[in-house]
Amino acid sequence: MIVILKNGYDERQLESLLNWFDGMDVGVQINEGEQTTVIGLVGDTSALDIELIKAIDIVESVSRVKEPFRKANRKYHPDDTVIDVRGRKIGGGSFHIMAGPCSVESEEQICAIAESVKESGATILRGGAFKPRTSPYDFQGMKSEGLDLLFLAREKTGLPIVSEIMNANHIELFEDVDIIQVGARNMQNFELLRELGMIKKPILLKRGLANTLQELLMSAEYIMAGGNEDIILCERGIRTFETYTRNTLDLAAIPLLKELSHLPVVVDPSHATGISRLVKPMSMAAVAAGADALIIEVHNDPKNALCDGAQSLTPDVFADVVSAVNDVLKAVGKLPVG
Ligand code: PEP
Ligand code: MN
Repeated sequence: MIVILKNGYDERQLESLLNWFDGMDVGVQINEGEQTTVIGLVGDTSALDIELIKAIDIVESVSRVKEPFRKANRKYHPDDTVIDVRGRKIGGGSFHIMAGPCSVESEEQICAIAESVKESGATILRGGAFKPRTSPYDFQGMKSEGLDLLFLAREKTGLPIVSEIMNANHIELFEDVDIIQVGARNMQNFELLRELGMIKKPILLKRGLANTLQELLMSAEYIMAGGNEDIILCERGIRTFETYTRNTLDLAAIPLLKELSHLPVVVDPSHATGISRLVKPMSMAAVAAGADALIIEVHNDPKNALCDGAQSLTPDVFADVVSAVNDVLKAVGKLPVG
């Protein structure tokens, strides 16, 4: 249940209202937004009389919340969540581009790509060190050595880094990673989500291959319930009957997630399509639909990439995508990338 307070409410009246809720044995979560103050009531609220609460002086309105997600719900938290990643603000109106290879392959590769994507305007470096591969015989990533190379690339370029975790036992290894990615295949690995809820670090949570938006938000809720509320939701395409593309980009997910939740939304046009030439039009569409960020795979030699070469952009094409993204941002009245 949520209780919206009138603007300029009396603090003493608020205190007595909170004491009353306390006596009713319901959990209280207060959110003071820029425009409104919302009291979220959690637990068993069935004994609460809505009409009685509505009649209280400082109360503007009261409503029951149908959705099973609370901390991720915009009704409880009307303002956008803004996540600070080494000074880059994700959410709340700015726009960021995370770019880099699917997998870290060598020092030369990650450092060269990091320099070139930075030059084109990327604000965060992506790179997989632990790779979830469909075949056990394929390259599985450079693991902790890959993370060390990402730290080196960050040192050289100043770009914060995002990398995927697959196992809760690796959390210590990720201590110095700026954003931890939970990949599509682990979106419902609830044990991993719970562990990530206990650390203080932004999490980029990718939508599962066949998961609904409500399931994505419930996975965010798992992490947030533990106390880690810095979650970035990622639409990366879902599996449909279509076979021309690797997945089908669900563009409607962007405005819907922004409506349902206050968490920032990033779009991954690389995994959503699997085809490098579709990355530019889908990036532009994602910006127009209201995304807060993009995550794009870029490789200096896509033909010889150890993973996801077909969907990876060359640095030159990436530069062209950034410029197209800036054109769309301008058209929709937003500031350029960064
Ligand atoms: C990736 O980002 O390289 C990746 C494996 O993504 P997803 O989990 O979306 O397939
Ligand atoms: Mn990939």
